[in-house]
Amino acid sequence: MITFDNVSKAYEGKEGTVTAVKDVSFTVNKGDIFGVIGFSGAGKSTLVRCVNLLEEPTAGEVRVNGRDMKSLSAKELREARKKIGMIFQHFNLCESKTVYANIAISLQLSKTPKAKVEKRVKELLSFVGLSDKAESYPDQLSGGQKQRVGIARALATSPEVLLCDEATSALDPQTTKAILELLKKVNREFGITILIITHEMPVIRDICNRVAVMENGEVIESGSVFDVFSRP
Ligand code: ADP
Ligand code: ADP
Repeated sequence: MITFDNVSKAYEGKEGTVTAVKDVSFTVNKGDIFGVIGFSGAGKSTLVRCVNLLEEPTAGEVRVNGRDMKSLSAKELREARKKIGMIFQHFNLCESKTVYANIAISLQLSKTPKAKVEKRVKELLSFVGLSDKAESYPDQLSGGQKQRVGIARALATSPEVLLCDEATSALDPQTTKAILELLKKVNREFGITILIITHEMPVIRDICNRVAVMENGEVIESGSVFDVFSRP
């Protein structure tokens, strides 16, 4: 479903080249909740951003459902990105828009009829447990509620894949648990494949079935969570 094939990403900076991701290969299967764990600076965020080409790999290929993302035309890439939702550590909501409007944005941009948008947004609000917050603004919400909006927004275009970039790192442990439960429900009810990057071991233990461990840009181990973390 998502295949990383010898993916590398180097950034050119004032102090020379930083190779953030080095020759990474692994596969995320359909229906997986796949975790990538590592310390800050390990290259996790760069790697996950290569999936939807927020970053372009300097070498190697990322294939989503067998298609090399780099081979797509601009129009095909826009369509492919609708099938790849993303949520973020700091939620990345539009502060000047209501919860309703934040969730509706991508549907409105793709010229979905207004009645259809309304039906879909209402379903999503109910799914994430925020039916009473449609008219609220992000600054009136708690962190956990903001991430629920982020999840609803990511689901609006019915993606096949959900990328989670440190999605619980700004939340307290109890709120983290509730958001992880919601992500399990996303995976179970819609069959959405989830790729999570995190520096938090409890996140991996709580919801991932497979894991890759990153260190200095490289994947040093990968496999089932049980195998990787019960090895002596
Ligand atoms: P992680 O998500 O594991 O914290 P990142 O992918 O954010 O790791 O960063 C990996 C390395 O790449 C770090 O050394 C970081 O400083 C560097 N890096 C990330 N983004 C950029 C960028 N836009 N320009 C230059 N260097 C970057
Ligand atoms: P605009 O971009 O026109 O300033 P918004 O981004 O706030 O408006 O909202 C986009 C659209 O969603 C508008 O057509 C608005 O009427 C509609 N809308 C906003 N909130 C709701 C709601 N709770 N129920 C139904 N439609 C709504």
